[in-house]
Amino acid sequence: MNIQETIQNLREELNQHNHNYYVLDNATISDFEFDQKLKQLQELENQNPEYFDENSPTQRVGGTITKNFKTIPHQYRMYSLDNSYSKEDLIDWENKMQRVLGNVNLEYTCELKYDGASISITYENGKLLRAVTRGDGFQGDDVTNNVKTIKSIPLKLKGNYPENFDIRGEIVLPFAGFEKMNQELIEIGETPYSNPRNTASGSLKLQDSAETAKRPLECLLYFITGKNLPFNNQFDSLKSARDWGFKAPKESKLAKNLDAVFEFIDYWDVHRHQLPYETDGVVVKVNSFQHQEELGYTAKSPRWAMAYKFKSEQVFTKLNSISYQVGRTGSITPVANLQPVQLAGTIVKRASLHNADQIEKLDIRVNDTVFVEKGGEIIPKIIAVDLEKRPENSEPTVYITNCPECETLLVRNEGEANHYCPNFYGCPPQIIGRIQHYISRKAMDIEGLGGETVALLYNNNLVKNYADLYELKVSDILPLERMAQKSAENLVNGVEESKKIPFENVLFALGIRFVGETVAKKLARHYKNIDNLSKASVMELVLVDEIGERIAQSVVDFFSNHENVSIINRLKNFGVQFEIKEVVNLNATNKLEGKIFVVSGVFEKFSRDDLKKAIEDNGGKVGSSISSKTDFVIAGENMGPAKLEKANQLGVKIIDESKFLELINEN
Ligand code: AMP
Ligand code: ZN
Repeated sequence: MNIQETIQNLREELNQHNHNYYVLDNATISDFEFDQKLKQLQELENQNPEYFDENSPTQRVGGTITKNFKTIPHQYRMYSLDNSYSKEDLIDWENKMQRVLGNVNLEYTCELKYDGASISITYENGKLLRAVTRGDGFQGDDVTNNVKTIKSIPLKLKGNYPENFDIRGEIVLPFAGFEKMNQELIEIGETPYSNPRNTASGSLKLQDSAETAKRPLECLLYFITGKNLPFNNQFDSLKSARDWGFKAPKESKLAKNLDAVFEFIDYWDVHRHQLPYETDGVVVKVNSFQHQEELGYTAKSPRWAMAYKFKSEQVFTKLNSISYQVGRTGSITPVANLQPVQLAGTIVKRASLHNADQIEKLDIRVNDTVFVEKGGEIIPKIIAVDLEKRPENSEPTVYITNCPECETLLVRNEGEANHYCPNFYGCPPQIIGRIQHYISRKAMDIEGLGGETVALLYNNNLVKNYADLYELKVSDILPLERMAQKSAENLVNGVEESKKIPFENVLFALGIRFVGETVAKKLARHYKNIDNLSKASVMELVLVDEIGERIAQSVVDFFSNHENVSIINRLKNFGVQFEIKEVVNLNATNKLEGKIFVVSGVFEKFSRDDLKKAIEDNGGKVGSSISSKTDFVIAGENMGPAKLEKANQLGVKIIDESKFLELINEN
């Protein structure tokens, strides 16, 4: 096999794995194996730039920067849909069509109406050529580089596809991914996104496609337009789309008549809440293309399709009061306290008002009658005020000027939506929130201690910061409510155990603003210990990969505060990890006796010499090249493709460094 064929085969194999995983939800290899193959391909492509292909699976990770998105005309216009709100509307629609077509029996394809960002993708000779946003329907923005990072969109097609066609669909952000993104933002003190739809369309317009690649976007495709299409109705077109490798919604159904359409609507009106992404209705399309052609288009939309909008779940209720919550980073969130009301199957008592601008925009006042809506988000929102029902003595809402918890004057930085309380060390919810963050799973992961207990400890003057946790004694905790001997011991043991948590988690746990999990890892690996980090200037910090000025400034501010420094010194004395530990197993064993290892690539946890030493310390041998005698290849980043191929040929086991650690650490 020559290089070109090897590259080609790898691309096809990886495309198939992407398809299995993202379209069929059915992975057949492990993530590790996938990554190894992708790395192998990347290496081969780097070494043989003449075989570059912009549609190679290696291009999915993104990295291209687009400063201005080019406007591109659609080769086929993107129409809107007419809306209907009742079954009567649909009956009228059918009657109208039957007047045009004669009294034929009409069949329909029923689809869900996904709420995301619409996209039109052009394929030429089976390759993704271009992806354009809807724009005004005649022309949109070229977002090809960003769209290519969405793994469920094929870059190359399979089977018998037409030479040139456009396929349209909706790019959506599933709730789970959206919540996760927001969780991460909240953790580092940023403002969360308001809803999945806007976040999805915003993701298409990011300048750095590597950022788009990180977002868990999906694309559902439902409409093909072009010449010489090998089907003559909508339902079959979805099937073809699937055969060519697209994710065409599997909920779609062929309905023999309007009654069957109504059944579909009734079913999804209830069950749509269980779908992983947001839907706001059903799209009913006349199935036969011949009928579609005869019906044609109005100036705005096809006459052969109709969106049926689900009744949005909205109710009127009264605003009893507005309260203000203080978050871990001091950020203030206004909350509407409502007259409890039934909405979308739950009782709603509260709604978020987001910030002062939102209150001003709605001109919302206590005792107003408000319109509450529940979209896909968990917290309902207020969308309007009924001004006619406003009481006469009503007064405009005045946003608070001082912290509701500690009275400190609030500040609002330019460009930020939220006010915040700057009393970092004296404001109770900030102190409690910071300790709760410290003990959380991704941070110090302290077992035996929960968020409520933290509040209890604080309110009983037992802890004022996270360093105080390490001085807690069983006898201090026992007098507290609901604290038995056993749970008090668990708490103290959990705190003790946290001294083993690695530096990168400790750094995240400190709760430095804008320092999330990934940033903490980057900083920990770069600076190796807290002393180096605490001495770094903004200028030095921004030189670290992915560290921007805002993060850098926040780190410098954190370490220039005496209180922070003294807390860290106390933690150090208690034995908390403030430097990266080399993970070499010092207790030599003979666990690897008789085994021959070959080491290839670059490692995260070891230097190559340390890794070799660890093999030998544990009784193994290090070989210089792969042969039939080799038992294991330990593969790191950038392992050479030739080695990988050889190992595969000889059937030698390939493991990563964590697997290796398991080998020497297992009993
Ligand atoms: P509207 O924006 O209300 O005019 O509705 C038209 C939009 O609905 C289209 O531009 C698509 O983005 C979106 N849409 C979502 N799901 C579907 C579907 N299954 N078929 C057609 N359009 C859909
Ligand atoms: Zn405060």
